[in-house]
Amino acid sequence: MGSTLLSFDEASAIVRMHAEALLRDAAPRTERVSLHQAQGRILAQPLVADRDQPSFPRSTRDGFAVRAAEASLNQPLRIAGSTRAGDPPSGPLPPNSAWEIMTGAAVPEGADAVVMIEHVEVANGTVRLLAPRTIASGDNYVPTGAEAHAGDTILAPGVALTAASIALAAFSGYPELDVYTRPRVAILCTGDEIVPVDQSPAPGQIRNSNGPMLAALVAQAGGDPWLLPTVADTEEALNAAIAQALEADLVLATGGVSAGKYDLVEPALERAGFRFHFTGVRIQPGKPTVFATLQSKNGTKCFWGLPGNPISSAATFLLFAAPVLSALAGRTDIGPRFATARLGKRAKHDPALTRFMPAHCTFGAANQWPTVERLFWQGSGDLATFARSNCFLVLPEEQDVIEAGTEVRILLF
Ligand code: AMP
Ligand code: MG
Repeated sequence: MGSTLLSFDEASAIVRMHAEALLRDAAPRTERVSLHQAQGRILAQPLVADRDQPSFPRSTRDGFAVRAAEASLNQPLRIAGSTRAGDPPSGPLPPNSAWEIMTGAAVPEGADAVVMIEHVEVANGTVRLLAPRTIASGDNYVPTGAEAHAGDTILAPGVALTAASIALAAFSGYPELDVYTRPRVAILCTGDEIVPVDQSPAPGQIRNSNGPMLAALVAQAGGDPWLLPTVADTEEALNAAIAQALEADLVLATGGVSAGKYDLVEPALERAGFRFHFTGVRIQPGKPTVFATLQSKNGTKCFWGLPGNPISSAATFLLFAAPVLSALAGRTDIGPRFATARLGKRAKHDPALTRFMPAHCTFGAANQWPTVERLFWQGSGDLATFARSNCFLVLPEEQDVIEAGTEVRILLF
């Protein structure tokens, strides 16, 4: 393979093109889940309103339903009736009167506003809106159908279900939802030095942290992780592992893509007939990342060779693999998820590469911008630092110094 390095934007464009093609052409399978299992799943059906929302004119206040023109004269209005939340709609509202009403109750026919209990004086079976306050038609209630009409599509397929969309589904009478079946993602961790987590590493060995980390990232991106046994740095082991992994919808490998003597993933992909889309990107960490595809009888298989260092694997997964996985999972909003924050401390770098530095962003403070600070690290194998980070700070290729207070991009995970 040649070793042309693409810019970050070029590599991202290639990934996006593949993701968009998948979104157009894939017809993912679906399954039905209860609302309690729906969090994070990708909606596979349109949600349709079974009735108008609201289905009756809903008061948004405790107070009195009135005709705005009458109430705004600030004269006593006779209290003609009372409706609690849950009562059937009542009325009609007689002339020169008001109707006691609670939040969530149906406004009686004939009323066109609700005055708040805090704004009136109640005496002798009458209620008076206190001057100088007046009220306009339409205040403090939501008319029938203002949020949605019966038969409207209120949520389109392709969204990841959140607390809000689960609430909407419940409100609209869906105890279960059709969601897309999660794509199966094979995870191959290569390296002679890697031992499973339940083993004690001998001198020179390390435990496999990429496997569980990628399994978590895959699940978060909407995939079903399939963690295969670690693969030795030999041609035979790689041939066999790649052949097995191709049973999955998508393959992630870590390690073995750098320039070392035992970095054998690229030749193995070549032997298996893969086509390479990139074999290096001008980023740090993650420069040797490989993206390749294979046309097989069960469609196109995407393969990412991610560098073995954990922070490199995580960053390149988020940047280049997660968008395609999301698309394959049926999700229309495919990421990666960038946001902006203020830089806490001046940052400097050698601007030959776009850098994704483990960083911590403070989101919590009200009235204050999210503020991000790069964490001091021992390079892309430094898991202790990575675990204290909550985002990557993006240092653009063309900029060597960024002053404190500057608006910068962060990559969320
Ligand atoms: P490689 O990309 O194979 O050159 O590996 C780069 C670095 O990442 C080396 O220090 C490896 O030991 C380390 N590494 C590779 N695979 C893993 C893994 N699965 N878990 C943790 N570290 C790894
Ligand atoms: Mg290796």
